[in-house]
Amino acid sequence: MKVHVLLGAPGSGKGTAAKQMLEAFSLTHLSTGDILRDAVSKGTEVGLRAKAYMAEGRLVDDDTVNGLVLARLQNVTGDMLFDGYPRTLSQARTLRDILSEKGMELGLVIDIDVPQSVLEARVVGRRVCENSACGAIYHLQTKAPKSAGVCDLCGNSLHQRTDDSVQAFRSRMEEFNRTFQPVLEFYKGSPNYRVVDGNRSPLAVFESLQQLF
Ligand code: AMP
Repeated sequence: MKVHVLLGAPGSGKGTAAKQMLEAFSLTHLSTGDILRDAVSKGTEVGLRAKAYMAEGRLVDDDTVNGLVLARLQNVTGDMLFDGYPRTLSQARTLRDILSEKGMELGLVIDIDVPQSVLEARVVGRRVCENSACGAIYHLQTKAPKSAGVCDLCGNSLHQRTDDSVQAFRSRMEEFNRTFQPVLEFYKGSPNYRVVDGNRSPLAVFESLQQLF
């Protein structure tokens, strides 16, 4: 059983790429962002703890996130795609230890690379379907829904994630720049590490991803 990892800044297109890859390669998805948002909306203990961090665009503490990942790995069969984890060096080390304890293998580590100047415009214009089972992602300029504020796929309302405001985005980027470099260094020497140019259309990015598998 393999765990593939998608790395990338907020707005790099990780979520869109993950959706395409899950369908194409029959992978099981693990998005720590989705798990945390679900916990916040259900008001669980973890959700209550994570809520303020997420709204301000700060990272949730490593112990909480590592615990969620470990819980999610129980009873999983088949290859997986991790999206949004690991995000810190401590998480990368924990993932290495979890995989070795469980006899799982690290698959591809894919870094979706997008210049920082492009990221802010992408994130601030992003709108997502409020129906978490649908989760469709739109952009006010580049991928507008047919009818303003309504999901083309399921008809539910679209909303802006609280952490997609300009202010929260900037603090997410600061946090990202501080914590991500050590994660990159951790994986860069690995034969599994690949960089994909994310400053292209979702289709072009997906074609590059397909060639990696
Ligand atoms: P995402 O959907 O991946 O952009 O994650 C949304 C938010 O959830 C982040 O801004 C963090 O506050 C939190 N989060 C998601 N994944 C992690 C992680 N691996 N470590 C810490 N916080 C996380």
